[in-house]
Amino acid sequence: MLNDITLNNKIDDLLAMSDQIESLEYLKHRYEEELDSAKKLASAGNCILIENLTNCARCQNDHHILLFNKLTFSHNKFTHWANCPNNNEPIMLTIESDEDDQD
Ligand SMILES: [Zn+2]
Repeated sequence: MLNDITLNNKIDDLLAMSDQIESLEYLKHRYEEELDSAKKLASAGNCILIENLTNCARCQNDHHILLFNKLTFSHNKFTHWANCPNNNEPIMLTIESDEDDQD
């Protein structure tokens, strides 16, 4: 049978868990807001939204919600660029147009 101390500990655990759930819900909400505004920017302009970028070429971490801008002049295969959020160096991207044949 549960004594008072055990019961109080269990209640504390549950309260801590509910705090965690609340902050996770807040983070999820913030992420969805950020994703929404990034989607709007991407559909309005000359940029492309990459929602999940794994193993970034500049810092080797993963990034979420990155907007890539179209290069004005492209002299090689790259068509878009973004700044790595960790070290601000350029991440290069190649987007093949829809009209190109797929390999
Ligand atoms: Zn990076």
